[in-house]
Amino acid sequence: MIPPMHMVLLAALLLCSWSGAVLAQERASALALVGATVHVGDGAAPIADAAVLIAGERIVAVGPRDAVPLPDGARVVDLSGKHIAPGLVDTHVHYSQTGWVDGRPDAADVRDRYPYEATMATNALHPERFHLAFLHAGVTAVLDCGGYPWTRRLGEATEHDPYAPHVAAAGALLATYDPKVLTLPDQQQFVFPHDADEARRFVRLHAAFGSAFVKVWYITTPEHPLEELSPIVHAAGEEARAVRLPLIVHATTLDTVRDAIAAGAHLLVHSVEDREIDDDFVAAAKAAGTFYCPTLTVRRGYFQVYSAAVDAEVLAQLDGVHPTVAARVRATEELPVRVPQRALQGMAKRFELAEQTMAKNLLRLHQAGVPVVLGTDAGNPLTLHGPSVWPELEAMAAAGLTPGEVLVAATWHAAQAMRREDFGRVASDSWADLVVLDADPEQDVTAWRTVQQVVRAGVLHERAALRQRGE
Ligand SMILES: [Zn+2]
Repeated sequence: MIPPMHMVLLAALLLCSWSGAVLAQERASALALVGATVHVGDGAAPIADAAVLIAGERIVAVGPRDAVPLPDGARVVDLSGKHIAPGLVDTHVHYSQTGWVDGRPDAADVRDRYPYEATMATNALHPERFHLAFLHAGVTAVLDCGGYPWTRRLGEATEHDPYAPHVAAAGALLATYDPKVLTLPDQQQFVFPHDADEARRFVRLHAAFGSAFVKVWYITTPEHPLEELSPIVHAAGEEARAVRLPLIVHATTLDTVRDAIAAGAHLLVHSVEDREIDDDFVAAAKAAGTFYCPTLTVRRGYFQVYSAAVDAEVLAQLDGVHPTVAARVRATEELPVRVPQRALQGMAKRFELAEQTMAKNLLRLHQAGVPVVLGTDAGNPLTLHGPSVWPELEAMAAAGLTPGEVLVAATWHAAQAMRREDFGRVASDSWADLVVLDADPEQDVTAWRTVQQVVRAGVLHERAALRQRGE
């Protein structure tokens, strides 16, 4: 039965005022978090026995507790013994992927059981599943580095939403290589500029349709060598500069990454992984001010898919993600193993060597002063939106960054890579986007796993309340 129109309107009005009332109540007056050690995020020294005063969506004061007067009626939350840090910023995610192979039929084709069209429709209709998984892991801002056109709307939709991270999205990737199956009949997440003029046209269209970044997937092949693709990438970079959109480049070889910097890349996602970088490269990266997002751990998920075995790390992440994601991750073990054992051993060896090269290159760039940022490539198989930040942070530390340097890379530098300076540190006027941890993230990088509460847009969430249940 269809309800009469006035009843529908009344229900809609009630719903609006109810959710408005909840938010007003959650932010009834000033919120004061007192007694914790504050880890600022921008490299400043930690503040012991601090007070963080929040009004509305923003931090209004932060400092030692006795230096921050609290207004009458403030809601005071005692966090003695805890640690407050800025929410994590993941600069490399994809809302158009799922965290499993149903979103990557080019990696393993399960479309007979999990049709790609239905999977992608679910992603578009339920971005809140990933929003909540990010918050549950302590991630309060993400950069979507390429996907279907609908992702561009996530920025405006999430900006003031206490139940979602800030999202900035690039929209469809400008790609030099066609993975064929990662597309839908009525929309595409890749466009393929065939020459410099076409690249410029795509960039202008991206600007017109509200992309926050331009992302280029820079992959050379014997049929399409660097000499052929470079002018297209450079044209995209020039036009991006003209329309004031930062350029993100996916590149993994020294030659393509070097050329990406020359083309004006603002953010490099992935590492130079084919060989060790040289002095010229380090100097060029530093002079250009390019942000480097090493994305160290994403291959581990692919390896687990190829060997049809999920490791203890990923299994331990499942309580923070949507139940449908967890169920699919567990179904990995039912995938046919298509790669023979010997080939798997070879792959493991290659991945290990690549990880060693990536770690060396990361440390060298970091020590030279190139700003390093956190990014996971979440959405790729078994790199889950949210909790995949933990192994990635730990891999950055294993490469030689101190826990304090990892903190800066994962918050303040990462916010700047998103072209934001209004979050990513615990400071007056910043967004009140915070995590409350049991352990000290400047002592031990595994402290990021001890999230107790998450503050987003001034609303304090118990972590358990962000857990997703049911369908
Ligand atoms: Zn990616």
